[in-house]
Amino acid sequence: MQIAVVGAGLSGLTVARQLQSQGHHVTVYEKSAGVSGRMSTRQTELGGFDHGAQYFTATSDRFKKEISDWKKLGWVTAWDEKLVSLDHGQFKSAGKSATRYVATPGMNALGKQLAHGLDVRKGQQVVAIEGYNEQWLLKVQADTVGIAASAGPFDAVLLAIPADQAAPLLGELPKFADQATKAKMLPCWTLMLGFPTSLDLPYGGAWVNQSRLSWIARDTSKPLHRAGERWVAQASPAWSIEHLEEDPERAKEKLLKAFHEATGSWIQPIHAVVHRWRFAQSEHPLPSDCLWDANRKVGVCGDWFAVGLEGGGRIENAFLSALALAKSVG
Ligand SMILES: Cc1cc2nc3c(=O)[nH]c(=O)nc-3n(C[C@H](O)[C@H](O)[C@H](O)COP(=O)(O)OP(=O)(O)OC[C@H]3O[C@@H](n4cnc5c(N)ncnc54)[C@H](O)[C@@H]3O)c2cc1C
Repeated sequence: MQIAVVGAGLSGLTVARQLQSQGHHVTVYEKSAGVSGRMSTRQTELGGFDHGAQYFTATSDRFKKEISDWKKLGWVTAWDEKLVSLDHGQFKSAGKSATRYVATPGMNALGKQLAHGLDVRKGQQVVAIEGYNEQWLLKVQADTVGIAASAGPFDAVLLAIPADQAAPLLGELPKFADQATKAKMLPCWTLMLGFPTSLDLPYGGAWVNQSRLSWIARDTSKPLHRAGERWVAQASPAWSIEHLEEDPERAKEKLLKAFHEATGSWIQPIHAVVHRWRFAQSEHPLPSDCLWDANRKVGVCGDWFAVGLEGGGRIENAFLSALALAKSVG
């Protein structure tokens, strides 16, 4: 079949690779200039910031096996830093739990590796999918051209994008659109900080309590990441919802203050930038693996499917959901 995949994050790249290896002809459309989606790294003069997904864990045997293959290829490695929980500068060890992995030298490196050998059309946003006889045409808006063009026809279309972005494209499949609306994604304001000197904090990451922030991590404590003192701080979902339309400069000031209070360090950054993720992680992951309409040949996968795991919104969900969709397509 001629298959269009919308989205070149981990789920889109995984379903595309799988279906290509099954003999299908696959084209991937990605609205951004680069691949990897929310497994992202923002490049700056000071080095990269993993400002989306921080790390990933594995509970299923299938994902553990894939990680082991990625490790052998040198694409990912374990991140063994000390993690703590923080209350106003006081920290408690978070104890040892599942192994945490990161891609190297930055989170987006994994997507770049997975995209090799795939036909990925970057800078091309799919704005509609339209039935055409028994097939599908995509309306694609390139970032270099003013008007949307038609692409296709395709025998099947697979959406591998956040639920809130999938819903408007599913007008011809109202039941799927309805499901996507239920999965609802939460926002996350993220602050990236670069410091001239070490903050001398005895941990590499922390869950933050009683704060605007819920998580901070020293990016430079991740293996094979460029040296320096770069931190990423994520606002809590509640704060991010309440301040969704906040002016970025104001959001930055407030989150920087929260960072100083949480860490007890008042060293001023030489680099401070915020990013607003409107769709960070699913609030209500759907209790299924993926969506697939075998008659219309439209499918949906992503991290907003529970795929038998506890909760959703994680890289493991995205991976397993993509495999499940590839299996359904056959
Ligand atoms: C701040 C933050 C922190 C996180 N922390 C963690 C963590 O610590 N551990 C963890 O496991 N997970 C974490 N996650 C979640 C993790 O990043 C996701 O589960 C995973 O990356 C989802 O992959 P995906 O391919 O399903 O979606 P995405 O990565 O969102 O990929 C979708 C892609 O589709 C593109 N796209 C969207 N709409 C269109 C369109 N209409 N046309 C063309 N392209 C389109 C987007 O540009 C994007 O590249 C975090 C996410 C965020 C934002």
